[in-house]
Amino acid sequence: MAYSLWLDGQWIEKEAFGELGSLPVMTHGLHYGTAVFEGLRFYEGRVFQSDRHYQRFGQSARFLDFDIPYSVQALQTVTQELVSGLPYKDGYIRAIAWCGEASMLVSHRLSNVRVAVHAAARPLPYTQDQYQNGLHLTGSCWKRPDPQTAPVHSKAAGLYMTSSMSKKKAEEEGCDDALMLDYKDRIAEATSSNIFFVRDGALLTPFPHSFLKGITRQTCMDLAKDAGIVVQEGDFYIQDLSSMQEVFLTGTAIEIVPVASITLGGQKWSFSAGPMVHWMQKEFRKLTQKGL
Ligand code: PMP
Repeated sequence: MAYSLWLDGQWIEKEAFGELGSLPVMTHGLHYGTAVFEGLRFYEGRVFQSDRHYQRFGQSARFLDFDIPYSVQALQTVTQELVSGLPYKDGYIRAIAWCGEASMLVSHRLSNVRVAVHAAARPLPYTQDQYQNGLHLTGSCWKRPDPQTAPVHSKAAGLYMTSSMSKKKAEEEGCDDALMLDYKDRIAEATSSNIFFVRDGALLTPFPHSFLKGITRQTCMDLAKDAGIVVQEGDFYIQDLSSMQEVFLTGTAIEIVPVASITLGGQKWSFSAGPMVHWMQKEFRKLTQKGL
C-alpha cells in the first residue's frame, strides 16, 4: 500500500488524502503561525540526514514554546517507512507540527499539538543549465529580523511570509530568487537557502545571526574542511560582493546551485560558476548516494 501521509500516528493512503488530510478551519497554527516544519529529501529510497532534521524540528518547536509529542527516533522510523512504501526512490518529505483546533485563544498554553509527515516525488526546482551556470538574484525589500523580534533560528512557518513575498516579487521581475539582508544590512541568505562565497580559495558564509542554520550549509562546511579548504563564517555587506569570485546557494530542496548575478540597489554583480561550486555539487552528490 502506498501511503503518502502520516498524521498523528495514522497512515493515510494517497486516495484518502483529500478527506483525512484536511484541517479544520479553526486551527491555531493557521491563524497565529504556531507551526514549525522540516523539509527532507530521500535518495535511492533512503532518507538523507533524518537525525539532524528531526533534531532541528524539535528545537524549532521549543523556540516557539511547544513540544513535539514524538521522539526523533520515532519520526525517523515513520519517515523511512513512509518512503519505503512509495513507488519511487527519490523525493521530498515535509514534516510539520502545529498547534491544533483544541483552543483558539491567542496563548497556545491549552493547544493540542498535531504532527504530520508527507512524502512525494519532487524533482530539483531548477534546470540543468541553472545548476551549471547559475541563478539570477535580485535584492529583497524585506530584511531578516533582529533575533529579539522573531525566533529566527526556528524553522517556523510564520517566518516564511517575507520569504514568500520576496521570492514572488523576484520571479515577477524575471529573476530566480531574492537576496535578503538582515536588520543590520549584512548579507543573510536567499529566501529559502543559505549563501556561500568563494574568495581567494577560501569558502565564506555569513554568521547565522538572523536566519536558520541550514543542514546543507553545515554539510558543505564539513566537506570543505575535510578537503583542507579554509572555511570562515563572517559578516558580509553588499560592498563585499565585488571581491567574491564565486557565489552559491545551499538547501535541502535546491541542493547546491551557483549564483550568476545579484542585482541590488541599482548595481549588478556577476559571478562565474567556478570550480568550487562544481566540486561541492559533486561531493554532495556522493554523500546523498551513500545515504548517510
Ligand atoms: N534558510 C531558509 C529560510 C530555509 O527555508 C532553508 C531550507 N530549509 C535553508 C535556509 C536551508 O536549510 P537546509 O539546508 O537545512 O535545508
